Amino acid sequence: MDKEFERKCYELAYLIFPDVHETVDDLEVKYPVRRLKEGAYVTRFAPSPTGFLHTGALFMALVNKVLAHQSDGKFFLRIEDTDQKREVKGSVKLFTEELKAFGLEPDEGVVAEGKEEGYYGPYTQSKRADIYKICAKHLVEKGLAYPCFCTTEMLQATHDAQEKNKVVPGYYGIYAKCRNISIDESIARIKSGEKYILRFRSSGSHLNKTSFIDGARGKIEIAENDQDVVLIKADGLPTYHFAHVCDDHFMRTTHVVRGEEWIPSTPIHIELFKAMGFEAPTYIHVPLILVKEGNSKRKLSKRKDKEAAVSYFLKAGYPTDAVIEYLYTILNSDYEMWRNKNKEASRDEFTFKLNKMSSAGSLLDIMKLNDISREIISKMTAKEVLENVLVWAKEEDKELYDLISKDLDYSLKVFSLERENVKKIRKDIIKWEDIRENFFYFFNTLFSQDIEKNGYNFEYNDKITKDIVNNVLDAYLNSYNQSHTKDEWFANMKEQANNLGFCTDMKEYKQNPDKYIGSTADFATIIRIAITNRKNSPDIYLIMQLLGEDETKNRFLKAMQS
Ligand code: GLU
Repeated sequence: MDKEFERKCYELAYLIFPDVHETVDDLEVKYPVRRLKEGAYVTRFAPSPTGFLHTGALFMALVNKVLAHQSDGKFFLRIEDTDQKREVKGSVKLFTEELKAFGLEPDEGVVAEGKEEGYYGPYTQSKRADIYKICAKHLVEKGLAYPCFCTTEMLQATHDAQEKNKVVPGYYGIYAKCRNISIDESIARIKSGEKYILRFRSSGSHLNKTSFIDGARGKIEIAENDQDVVLIKADGLPTYHFAHVCDDHFMRTTHVVRGEEWIPSTPIHIELFKAMGFEAPTYIHVPLILVKEGNSKRKLSKRKDKEAAVSYFLKAGYPTDAVIEYLYTILNSDYEMWRNKNKEASRDEFTFKLNKMSSAGSLLDIMKLNDISREIISKMTAKEVLENVLVWAKEEDKELYDLISKDLDYSLKVFSLERENVKKIRKDIIKWEDIRENFFYFFNTLFSQDIEKNGYNFEYNDKITKDIVNNVLDAYLNSYNQSHTKDEWFANMKEQANNLGFCTDMKEYKQNPDKYIGSTADFATIIRIAITNRKNSPDIYLIMQLLGEDETKNRFLKAMQS
């Protein structure tokens, strides 16, 4: 750079940033290289506070945390709020709580709403304006950044012309109108109060190819950057491109894990790192999460799919462990093989390998998640189920919470009953939301609600008429004895069935069905419906024992009156 030009660049930099006295070298001292074990990964999750944590973002946070932890590194959370128009209040609280629920809380950075931890902060971009200014000033001094006075209308006109002429859109080459304004003119226009933003002076050409090594995908060849991207916007805050470079350098990130939509922008970032004199981190571009639509696949969409929001899984009551276990199956292609061989092992024992991460989009397979979740729940003890349901219901189903917590001993018995006796129903529970449908009849209020809403599920036919059902219920009610053992109870049921013309011998019934009203099974179904309003349930003897004599009798009376 010739001396005169250099002097003018300094003059311009001073004019734009009169209050900036610190330098990039000062920042190097203030945010020193981290002293970690050789090969440790420093990773970060950097969401924008848009009020919504996407399931793909949760996956990204998982990749980040696993990489950092398995290398004894650090995983931090940074909030990227430079686009203040898009900011949704409450996002930080939501993100930090949701990450925590899934065990993905950061080691450093924004750890809760209004709370940051660590020496490399602030970890919220809007609080880092001073740092960006120091970096931007550095580029102006080196002649690598310049003020751009183009108005929105002028930029739009350029864009329209580019579209019409079918040329690559953007601010580059001959379209970069302010790029060749002399420094003297820039200084004069700024002094006269003209509005401007700050742009990067790219030295690339999109006709040239450049390449970088993606940590997961290997070598990626791509056109060089030639865009004079915006560094500092009119509101004084940086664009994503510039903030990413300044932040990940001074937070000493070693591996940038981000969505694959950023691959096309990577040449911009590599050029910016070089211009700043920084070493670029390793990029790891994570594939999108896809869903099936007809015969094709599409992006998991916030608008169309409830599963796109992490909050869905929490609200429905999926055990967070099940969601993470499922995400591991997407994380590495050999995870399931490992899991089959190490059924009881902690996930932390699995070594995640970047080269085993799929680069094609991964399909969100809810059936598979459901299988995993069902399996995890089926292994829980009744006490664990009770504890989990309480935590979930407290937030998501207050009525159920009140009913369950009113008598914890009873509730524990409700869940133990299932545990010991009916494997099939237990397997039906995928998420805590399913508890209501599977256990409602243990709670009188919920049972009454079900009858009110759906009526009784008795199925009448030519033989099993309403009168027959009432006779069955009446006979059963009169012979019911709560102190019966299971065998006595069964013997009594058979006797009553026999008295009323039901056949208690299955073989005989199959040969002469017309001689009978039905079989013992049909008789038992009537009893079962009176008690649970369902055709399938766990052992009705145990249910009646748990409901107690009064309630059991009440239910028969109630059914007879229906
Ligand atoms: N704030 C960016 C986003 O939400 C983060 C990209 C990155 O991780 O660098 O897409």
